[in-house]
Amino acid sequence: MSLQFCSFASSSAGNCYFIQSSGGTSILVDAGVPLRRLERNLRSIGVDPRQLQGIFLTHAHRDHVASYLIKKPFATRYDVPTYASTGTWRELLARGCGELNHDLCHRLEPGQSVQVGGLRVYAHAKSHDAAGAVCFEIKGRKERLAVVTDLGCLADSLLTALQGCTYYIFEANHDVIMEQQSARPWVLKQRVLSAHGHLSNEQAAAALAILAADAKGIWLAHISEECNCPDLACRVVEAALQHAGLRVPVMTLPARDPSPIYGNKDQGQVVPLQLWDLAD
Ligand SMILES: [Zn+2]
Ligand SMILES: [Zn+2]
Repeated sequence: MSLQFCSFASSSAGNCYFIQSSGGTSILVDAGVPLRRLERNLRSIGVDPRQLQGIFLTHAHRDHVASYLIKKPFATRYDVPTYASTGTWRELLARGCGELNHDLCHRLEPGQSVQVGGLRVYAHAKSHDAAGAVCFEIKGRKERLAVVTDLGCLADSLLTALQGCTYYIFEANHDVIMEQQSARPWVLKQRVLSAHGHLSNEQAAAALAILAADAKGIWLAHISEECNCPDLACRVVEAALQHAGLRVPVMTLPARDPSPIYGNKDQGQVVPLQLWDLAD
């Protein structure tokens, strides 16, 4: 066992992913759920918020940083270090970030990595309409997890960097036809469908067919509640994997609720765990 993880929310209503190493290092990728809910979510899996060793912010859109846009942010309340790019820090401050302890604010630029306890976290640049937006690759003792949401396209450099991860939390945001035919304002549709917006099911499928040859599991994330449905996203990705000769389990993360805890517990088997288990 090397990594265990779950999501507390995964959609434009909120994003927050919990990751723990076999040695007990715990981090969050994004903190886009309200403070009280985040506290409850952590306690429900037996984690004291003070145990967190880092919060890694992908970008400063509200659905990823909601718990910072209050007078006393979660990170300040529980003395948790925050890692983000300069661009993300700037946008976060401009959006009305609450009080921060500056000793606990760290810059992690695209292309850089940092070791936090038993985890090494790499920041990779991505194409999204937010300054300094990144996705994170998290490496435990043996396994690598990529958290890839909020991007309009995948540059070759990103595909190369994310090749061969053990697990992928990967955006399959919308079905293109559902998006085009939705009642959303034209400007929003244009944004979502652009190279700085979000990945469609087909884009996710094409990328995962290249990336996931050695993966033990894929969790589709940030699925639009209005312009997609989890079954459709799964079908499109599974078909592409099958076409590429890959047999990787594909799951979806709930838009607003916590997922089960996932991880490689025994001999390479991916099993959802309902109870927190630190046995190594
Ligand atoms: Zn988002
Ligand atoms: Zn975003």
